[in-house]
Amino acid sequence: MYIVFLGAPGAGKGTQASRVAETLKLAHLATGDLFRQAQDGESELGRQAKFYMEKGQLVPDEITIRMVLERISAPDCQSGVIFDGFPRNLKQAEALDKALLELGKAVDKVIYIKVSEKELLERLSGRRICRQCQTPFHILNSSPKIMGKCDQCGGELYQRPDDAVAVIKKRLKVYFAETALLIDYYTRAGKLVEVDGVGDVATVKKRIIKALSGEFASSGRR
Ligand code: AMP
Repeated sequence: MYIVFLGAPGAGKGTQASRVAETLKLAHLATGDLFRQAQDGESELGRQAKFYMEKGQLVPDEITIRMVLERISAPDCQSGVIFDGFPRNLKQAEALDKALLELGKAVDKVIYIKVSEKELLERLSGRRICRQCQTPFHILNSSPKIMGKCDQCGGELYQRPDDAVAVIKKRLKVYFAETALLIDYYTRAGKLVEVDGVGDVATVKKRIIKALSGEFASSGRR
């Protein structure tokens, strides 16, 4: 099963993709996380990605697509993947379709998590992430038990540099200009399902699992 999660920054893609991937035993491929990990390791990929990410711009397609294609050939991706943050424009979507076709596979379903722009700004500016395990928290809606510390692993919580308000506005602009075109692309392919992203994490997850239920039946999962 190859599933794409679409939605604006702050729509809850990362949280939901990670939980749904765990439930369905699929690999979770988050391009933003891969770029951040590359920066921690101080690789050439990390240096290139940092330049664009700090400005709220997309990393060039050539770099991003190469990284994703390399990742999907790994053994843990063979039974299926949830793509989180990829594709982000038409060129990436076409490259993904082509690569999967060569493997005799295809994107099965696209989950579009819909949230209003006002709510996105509130969510992103209050978001804090664990440096160690990447678990997201929110200073108002899901604050950690101890301020600044991750409930899961005790790691330090930080605000991503691109969650600063000025950069958020730029990211949303980029999203609405480029990524939103994918909604048309996947609607025309008959693969898009819209899911209301407002509600607690468990409720939104249930909606997503329900939206995917036809896919488990056809792939033999429950
Ligand atoms: P995210 O964690 O998905 O919000 O991504 C953080 C940043 O990583 C984005 O603002 C982009 O700079 C970069 N990025 C993540 N995914 C992609 C992608 N598919 N294409 C280009 N840039 C990306």
